[in-house]
Amino acid sequence: MNPRSILVAETVWRDIESTRAVTDEQLSILHFLFGKNFERATRIVDQRGVKRISGESSGRFIFQVMGESRRKEEYFCFAEHYCACYSFFYDIVNRGEQLCCKHQLAARLAASLGACTDVKVSDKQLALLLSKL
Ligand SMILES: [Zn+2]
Repeated sequence: MNPRSILVAETVWRDIESTRAVTDEQLSILHFLFGKNFERATRIVDQRGVKRISGESSGRFIFQVMGESRRKEEYFCFAEHYCACYSFFYDIVNRGEQLCCKHQLAARLAASLGACTDVKVSDKQLALLLSKL
């Protein structure tokens, strides 16, 4: 993904955040940029598969995103920089073919729409959770 596409994506995400809704035009831009992964991400969001786990009182947070097929797996991820899934390491880190995986896209989309399930934990619990990644 080239730098201009990244900027376009950022702009679209911010627009969605400000209106808390997605227009058809925004959908087609995101689909153009992220392809099949975006479709998969929308299915995850439709199933309310994104949790935002935040530490009190720091406000630091991480997303926990379910697998697309609703199997038991869930992945911890940061929308911009990290996901614990296999595809993140294989397609993104190793091969550099994509900018992010479907879980990261789902996290970003759900956060922009306000469609995450919010889970509060203590900062200590959050630290423990992060230490296991
Ligand atoms: Zn992932």
